[in-house]
Amino acid sequence: MFNPEKFKNKKALVIGAGKSGVACANLLAARGFAVLLSDSKPFARLKVRLKDLSPKVELETGGHTAGTMRCGFAVKSPGLPHSTPLIVKLKKRRVPVFSEIETALAFSRTSELMAVTGTNGKTTTTILLGEIMKRALKARGGKARVCGNVGTPAAEIIEKTGPRDAVVMEASSYQLEDSSFIQPRTACVLNITPDHLDHHKTMAKYIKAKTKVFRFQNAADACVFNADDDYCRSAAAACRSGVLFFSSSKKGGSLNAWVEAGRLVFRVKGKRHILKPPALPGLHNLENAMCAALMAFTRGVAPSDIQKTFSSFKGVEHRIEPAGNAHGLVFINDSKATNVDSTLVALKALGKDRRNIWLILGGLDKGSPYSPLKPYLERSVKAILSIGAAAPKIEEELKDASPVIRAGTIANALKTTLAEGARGDIVLLSPACASFDQFRDFEDRGRKFKKLVKKLMTTDWDMKHRESKIKI
Ligand code: ADP
Repeated sequence: MFNPEKFKNKKALVIGAGKSGVACANLLAARGFAVLLSDSKPFARLKVRLKDLSPKVELETGGHTAGTMRCGFAVKSPGLPHSTPLIVKLKKRRVPVFSEIETALAFSRTSELMAVTGTNGKTTTTILLGEIMKRALKARGGKARVCGNVGTPAAEIIEKTGPRDAVVMEASSYQLEDSSFIQPRTACVLNITPDHLDHHKTMAKYIKAKTKVFRFQNAADACVFNADDDYCRSAAAACRSGVLFFSSSKKGGSLNAWVEAGRLVFRVKGKRHILKPPALPGLHNLENAMCAALMAFTRGVAPSDIQKTFSSFKGVEHRIEPAGNAHGLVFINDSKATNVDSTLVALKALGKDRRNIWLILGGLDKGSPYSPLKPYLERSVKAILSIGAAAPKIEEELKDASPVIRAGTIANALKTTLAEGARGDIVLLSPACASFDQFRDFEDRGRKFKKLVKKLMTTDWDMKHRESKIKI
């Protein structure tokens, strides 16, 4: 556990000048620590981020100097492998290495920490829970601060967090793995499927990292699990806090939340509540909603606050996000689908037994097979529009399950759908690939897609002659 008092007279080493590294170095410096921020990348590549660095922080770039060994404790950036020579050296010298989240939380004035983890659905659940808590705490004069893997580092919000506030944190397996101690009042494990094994190496190590979200909880705390997930169920057996289960496939029994006739049924603390879920597609979103609501219920939030938030929640950008309708076609931005599993989720959520989806697939290949998509392509996809570097591999692997048109770019893909699509067809950007071959990141890809769709919405299109004045 990081105890600031214990390390008061020691110099802090922050390894990695990413967003959370810079925020953590600033926080430690503001709290009176001497801080060295060290990154192996050259200054030129870090310049933009370092604009936010406090002048109190000592900085070294382009490598780690002997100065790192004069520090009394270290904070490690989440993605950095444990085999990094600097980390190995620090551990050998018994220099404690902490995560950014536990370091930041050690300065927190609230005990109300709610932590969300899982392989998929973390951001959606965290943001939904954040909205619920914001509404619930408003009446009590408090605020909910959303942080972690969602984009705002914990170190950035902790100074603003008062005793009446709640911290709602998205915790990735990387952040949990590096934490020696974290004790949320309420936690969850949404689901566990193989992911990030390049970093964690084995499934056992990945699960061990995820289960840290509840490992240090006690009987007064609570943790929510997915009853439909085998890994989650066996993890729950080792949980010492109050365990709650949700399921999207079963009903009643020992469950605390389930789906019945399109409604969400909750059974918590001897009471039953029935709520209308947020208007988002897919069973996976019902799971995210059940999980967020159960976490809120454990903190005494009123069902009416949860219902109001559900009714106004519009989902999260780039996750099966409606991007607009134009010329009879419905456009959906699912740019966050950077792997095959996520594209499968979108096809399950949107696909019907008629082939009306134009699927924009491709980008930077991640090395996994595309073949798991085949049954869903046969059922719901009219054609694949392949883009980016992965196009040849996609064509080769999927051509017997769906027609594949080599579009190359999103703009060309959209032109094709305008020319070939029928009224009511869905144009889905759910690429199953990383974006870095053609875009800065998945957000950039999604925004450019939406921009093109907006352009289509305001451009005339002659359906009869299938011609347009569109230049995209
Ligand atoms: P994360 O932050 O864990 O990556 P997001 O909320 O950003 O999760 O969702 C990313 C993608 O994961 C979504 O576009 C969807 O395809 C899939 N997904 C979301 N929620 C779930 C869920 N509960 N179970 C399975 N897949 C999900």
